[in-house]
Amino acid sequence: MGSFKLGGMTLGSLFKKPETLLYPAEQKSAPAGLKGHIENDASLCILCGICAKACPADAIVVEKKERTWAIDPFRCVQCSSCVRACPKACLHMLPTYTPIATAQSCTVVEVPDPKA
Ligand code: SF4
Ligand code: SF4
Repeated sequence: MGSFKLGGMTLGSLFKKPETLLYPAEQKSAPAGLKGHIENDASLCILCGICAKACPADAIVVEKKERTWAIDPFRCVQCSSCVRACPKACLHMLPTYTPIATAQSCTVVEVPDPKA
């Protein structure tokens, strides 16, 4: 690269807006096609566990007795296998980023008992 071109780039960068953002105070809007993260509409879930079996990353745990459905967002690779496998269509990929966390944790959803 010639020194003129390099000098031009250096000078130009002095007057351009920075490419970086002050994350998390500033955030970019989600790009089109972002798979985002999984959400479970617990009112439809029957705790069948098919999503957990379909997950290649072991990110989902279904506890039938406790009536809980849990996902570890740090394991999820956003492949959508669980969404396709769910017989009740209660799983969705929301086109938003996973919320910011300061520690690794699972998202636990309590599934209401239809008989209660
Ligand atoms: S496959 Fe669907 S209905 Fe079955 S446990 Fe998973 S989310 Fe619930
Ligand atoms: S999107 Fe893929 S990796 Fe994430 S929970 Fe569903 S099956 Fe598992």
